[in-house]
Amino acid sequence: MQCATTPPLTPQDSINTQCTNAKSPRPNVVILATGGTIAGVASSHTQSIDYKAGALGIEVLLDTLPELGALATLQWEQVANIDSADMTDSLWLTLAKRVNALLAQEHIDGVVITHGSDTMEESAFFLQLVVASPKPVVLTGAMRPSNAISADGTKNLYNAIALASHSNARNKGVMIVMNDTIQSARYGAKTHTHNLDAFSSPNSGDMGYILDGRAHFYYTLPLHTTQRTFCVDTLTQLPKVAILYSYANDYSGVAARALYEVGIEGIVVAGSGAGNIHRAHKEVLQELMQQGLVVVVSTRVGCGIVQVGGVDSKRGFISARSLNPQKARALLLLALTRTRNPAEIAQIFGEY
Ligand code: ASP
Repeated sequence: MQCATTPPLTPQDSINTQCTNAKSPRPNVVILATGGTIAGVASSHTQSIDYKAGALGIEVLLDTLPELGALATLQWEQVANIDSADMTDSLWLTLAKRVNALLAQEHIDGVVITHGSDTMEESAFFLQLVVASPKPVVLTGAMRPSNAISADGTKNLYNAIALASHSNARNKGVMIVMNDTIQSARYGAKTHTHNLDAFSSPNSGDMGYILDGRAHFYYTLPLHTTQRTFCVDTLTQLPKVAILYSYANDYSGVAARALYEVGIEGIVVAGSGAGNIHRAHKEVLQELMQQGLVVVVSTRVGCGIVQVGGVDSKRGFISARSLNPQKARALLLLALTRTRNPAEIAQIFGEY
């Protein structure tokens, strides 16, 4: 990970690649590149399924967009170049520390993270929980590889940088920008496998829209997270949390036991309906909870809330409320850095 020193994109291009402490008239935005389809290359223009994600460096993408120079003074860092299906807790920690360090610098106005769409919502929510700054952090990516017909990456990148440059993007938390929409990290999710319009917020609706580089917000979230973040500055690893499904004739109890034996500390269950767990699976979880496993219950439905009640709550099952399983996992692993007490973790889930 390093500050780019690549030469300007075109001779007349005004993008500044220097790390400078002087406040420039244009906003200073840093791009942290992690790969994904936005940096993907397919074997032909007509191919949008068979391609390699994370094949190009961020400077190649920026090269195609000299107009960015009018929006912001840019720096960029290639933090990784992966398919986001391979995202790790360790890369999350690297990103979190880097984003906090950058935003603590007075002259930096915002951060854009290029990221594969598959796990973008997880990284976005994790960062929302650990970034202690009112400045904008915007994740973007693409649904089509960079050389596909009608590739969407350049427009998404333009929009993300436009958003991160705007003063009205402050105090909105971490955001996802795809297909001209703005989704909050809290509610946004990938809800289509291939459409360009792949992201939405099933429980809340889009947070906003970007038109010709101008952001329009429909609503904002109560932003306790910038004040009440989880501090990961000194951490080199995160508690181990897995996700299991519940389904007809559920075998996940077997998986739960195996996971616990290899040191998994928390499990999020993508329950059926409003967070129901097959009896065979649930019995194993209850047994493991008595040995210290922490279990959060979400839903596989994709929309709505889960409220664990009465007996199950007394047994220690924790409600993920409106967090989908993958976002609940991000919150649970951070909650486990503070406490292993189910009642306290339930309180944390009630708050975030
Ligand atoms: N598999 C890709 C990734 O998440 C998909 C994408 O970026 O759209 O990296």
